[in-house]
Amino acid sequence: MKNKSVDHIHCTACHLRGFLDKHDADKALGRAQAKRDRLAAKRGTGRGIRRESRYFRCSQGLFHLTATPRKDVSQ
Ligand SMILES: [Zn+2]
Repeated sequence: MKNKSVDHIHCTACHLRGFLDKHDADKALGRAQAKRDRLAAKRGTGRGIRRESRYFRCSQGLFHLTATPRKDVSQ
């Protein structure tokens, strides 16, 4: 059984899409970035477009995508 979409569950603590493991988060990150890049190409600029660059593990043990650089994470 092959499922093309990345499985995710809703994280009730963060109100974000959460991924159960790094592998899924990594796949989702790649897809999100490809989507942003297509949007940037269409607009002719990448300015003002949020671009997820990494994922982090939250208190619920789920992985979330974020555009925030690691050094700026304070919450
Ligand atoms: Zn979370």
